[in-house]
Parts: sequence; structure tokens; C-alpha cells
Amino acid sequence: MCLISWLVFCLIFSFFFAGSQLEANKKAMNIQCKVCMQTFICTTSEVKCREHAEAKHPKADVYTCFPHLKK
Ligand SMILES: [Zn+2]
Repeated sequence: MCLISWLVFCLIFSFFFAGSQLEANKKAMNIQCKVCMQTFICTTSEVKCREHAEAKHPKADVYTCFPHLKK
């Protein structure tokens, strides 16, 4: 394999890799506060959601901000 085609391969590979990383990041940010539209990483615990609701929206119910917490 010549050097040029190797470089092209690296470029394409890093482009695809960066793209898939971006997609993964988008998917990871899938918890959203319905009141202020702030997004949270899906690994964010229920406690963190409650903390956000209490700190930012003391007048709103935690389930108004994060309906997914309701069981
Ligand atoms: Zn909020």
C-alpha cells in the first residue's frame, strides 16, 4: 500500500469515527428537562434529575420536568 492511499484511508476512517462519536454523544444526551429543555446524559441518575428540578424549578413537580421518572 502506498503512502497516499494510506493517508486517505486514515482521513476517511477518522471522519467516520468522529461522525459515529457525534451520533453516540447525541444518543447519550437523551434525558431532557421538559421545563427548560436542558439535556442530560442518559446515565444521569434520578437523584440528579430531582436535584435539577428542585434547584431550577422549585415550583414545578419533578415529574413535570422528567416524566420518565414516573412509574
Ligand atoms: Zn430544567
